[in-house]
Amino acid sequence: MVFLAPGATVLHGLSPADSTTDFIYLVAAAQVVFAVLVGVLINKPDRKIWSSILFLIFVLLIAQFFDNRDSSSVGAKLFSESLFLAVQLILVLGLFLVVRRRIGGDPMNVVFDALVISLASWFFIWVGFLNPARAFSPDDVSVTVIRGLTLASSAIVVFMLATLLFGSSVRTPSTWLASGAILSSLVGDVLYATNQSGRLSIDQQIANAPYIASLFLVSATVLHPSVATLSEQTTSRVKQPLLGRMILTTTALVLPILFLALSNPTDDSDRFVRAASIFVLAATVTARVVFAVRANAALQERLIVSAQTDALTDLPNRGLMLEHVQSAIVASRFSNSRPAALFIDVDRFKNINDSLGHSAGDDVLIAVAQRLRVVLPGRCIVGRISGDEFVVLDADSKSQSDAVMLADAVLESFHEPLALRQGDVFVSASIGVAVLDDAVTRSADDLLRHADTAMYRAKDAGRNCVAVFDSSMLERVNQRLAVETALYRALERRELRLVHQPIIDIELGDVIGFEALMRWDMEDGTKISPAEFIPIAEETGVIVPIGSWALLEALSHLRGWINQGICRRDATMSVNVSPRQLHDPNFVAVVNEALMRSRMPADQLWLEVTEGVMITQPDQALETLRRLSSTGVRVAIDDFGTGYSSLSFLQKFPIHRLKIDRSFINELAEDASAKSLVKTIIAMADSLGLDVVAEGVETVEQLHALGDLHCKKAQGFLISHPVTPETMGSTVAGLDKIGKWPRLRPL
Ligand code: C2E
Ligand code: MG
Ligand code: MG
Repeated sequence: MVFLAPGATVLHGLSPADSTTDFIYLVAAAQVVFAVLVGVLINKPDRKIWSSILFLIFVLLIAQFFDNRDSSSVGAKLFSESLFLAVQLILVLGLFLVVRRRIGGDPMNVVFDALVISLASWFFIWVGFLNPARAFSPDDVSVTVIRGLTLASSAIVVFMLATLLFGSSVRTPSTWLASGAILSSLVGDVLYATNQSGRLSIDQQIANAPYIASLFLVSATVLHPSVATLSEQTTSRVKQPLLGRMILTTTALVLPILFLALSNPTDDSDRFVRAASIFVLAATVTARVVFAVRANAALQERLIVSAQTDALTDLPNRGLMLEHVQSAIVASRFSNSRPAALFIDVDRFKNINDSLGHSAGDDVLIAVAQRLRVVLPGRCIVGRISGDEFVVLDADSKSQSDAVMLADAVLESFHEPLALRQGDVFVSASIGVAVLDDAVTRSADDLLRHADTAMYRAKDAGRNCVAVFDSSMLERVNQRLAVETALYRALERRELRLVHQPIIDIELGDVIGFEALMRWDMEDGTKISPAEFIPIAEETGVIVPIGSWALLEALSHLRGWINQGICRRDATMSVNVSPRQLHDPNFVAVVNEALMRSRMPADQLWLEVTEGVMITQPDQALETLRRLSSTGVRVAIDDFGTGYSSLSFLQKFPIHRLKIDRSFINELAEDASAKSLVKTIIAMADSLGLDVVAEGVETVEQLHALGDLHCKKAQGFLISHPVTPETMGSTVAGLDKIGKWPRLRPL
């Protein structure tokens, strides 16, 4: 169709006889009707589109018919001119519908630019056709008026077309073809008007040729599959061609002004219309500039707001909260208020995220934000600092007790469950409170950091509580920081060492194995207990290298003792392993290398893990433990009974031993319920085929009670404190001398 259009157009322009042009017209008309019908069937465009196209063609044909045949009667002329006007108006209406849908969220400046172009077109229509037609008017006045209206409305068509093409929605082939069809019919109008204005005399065949092109392009439009989306707002173009649009608009602005400057008006009416047109054009350009500047300012404001708020909860983010705190601190210098910050951390939020999924996690955060907004007085500012951490600023707080009351109210508000899409969820929070204290708070950052420090204290105190900052906490934080830094170097400075605690077979009295326990003696002689440094090592990841070192060191010690005949050849070594190590992809290789280098068989190594391993990220831990146990290494659950593992985990994990926590052994001799608990653990371990070791045996009574319960193995201060590798020889020899432990049973 696109190729047929120029052919038919040229043919029409060149053909001399009326009968040929009529024939070409007929062919063009017939093909367009046929194409619309086919296009409707295949491409199924919007009903409004194809019905208006058919209607347009129909009206156009009738108009053309009358125009060609009878050009002398005024009535017929009036009729054909009215039909042309109707065509133009229908076109305006149809384009309006398409533009309205397509332009969607486009900015107003697209409309303004289109308006500038249409006003310029109007200016030239007036100067070129309408004004001369007034002077040279052989026709009836009404005919001239209608012709004028038709031409004026083509300025609106130009406007609609420009809006469509300048907009940000994708320009499909159909958009281009439809625009081509409309443009060539506009060219037809211009040629026709040129004839009518008497300026030039153009052959009727040539003047009508663009209409033929238009008809073929209409066919191409409806036959192209993209016509189905013509009236839809399709995806936006990423890059809008701004340059072309700018050149077009600037030309549309400059040309009329140039023309105005270089030509004289014919009479007063012409002068008036020219002046009015240029005035409207100038006003439109001014409005467009004002609008663009305003839109830019609004956009900038939106950007600033979005950079300062948290997208999930709409609360101020860390940056904005710091600004608020800073202004509160400045304002407090002129009043008797002591701004307070509450640092709120949702307890075990990671568990919620892991177990319910991240979208539920998001919902929890939104609900928490909402709860805080509701429960806190209007003067407080709530912000979300990161993840599950919220900050509340009370700039008008008068004292510490005011702030604590506020924190208590927040804590209490969480007694009610949060209603989520997934159902009700209970959460608790740990809250740190810090009040402005000129002695220690120098900046907004300080106040938030102090509240954060206090929050950690609340977490340490068992969560779901409030802790108030005091300066002694700073010392602890600094101390912890010092430990952290020193720990990084402890290994290379050889400050770490291992001590070992023997594990005995209760019945035989033999030392059957050892547990390796780490010790840290700092350069300056300070001894730091594992209870303090192991958690820090886990948090910072240092546990991975020091844990690897401990494995090789412990196995080498055992190899030495066996070689020296200090212990049995089949004695075992138990090494504590933290979850962080199990998540290290190299861990299996590290274990194998330690076994190889110490020339110890795998079944003489026990890895002690706590129940926590089975709860957080169990899959990865499970995989590592499975791979290790397939090589013969065995796994013990340390401190059994203190965690929250379910029995199903015991079945799922490759576990070979339970170490009953010392808290149960402690009360064994006196407390009947502790005794029955230990009895149950032993029975369960037996039925699962697991080995049992009692930890922390301190008295003979405890050992006897364990013997009565048929517990086979034990370790504890009664048997031996942890000792250095060098003294292990004498320790084991001493234990061997005691022989069978039950003999110690008091008579
Ligand atoms: P654990 O693995 O449960 O180790 C037993 C702890 O109980 C040791 O404390 C030991 O000295 C102590 N203990 C032994 N018998 C008795 C007793 O009769 N009464 C009392 N009151 N305590 C007894 P230690 O050496 O302070 O170690 C504490 C924890 O630090 C260990 O608990 C273990 O979880 C961790 N740990 C120690 N060394 C390492 C290591 O090399 N790697 C890792 N990941 N953790 C380690
Ligand atoms: Mg242990
Ligand atoms: Mg233990």
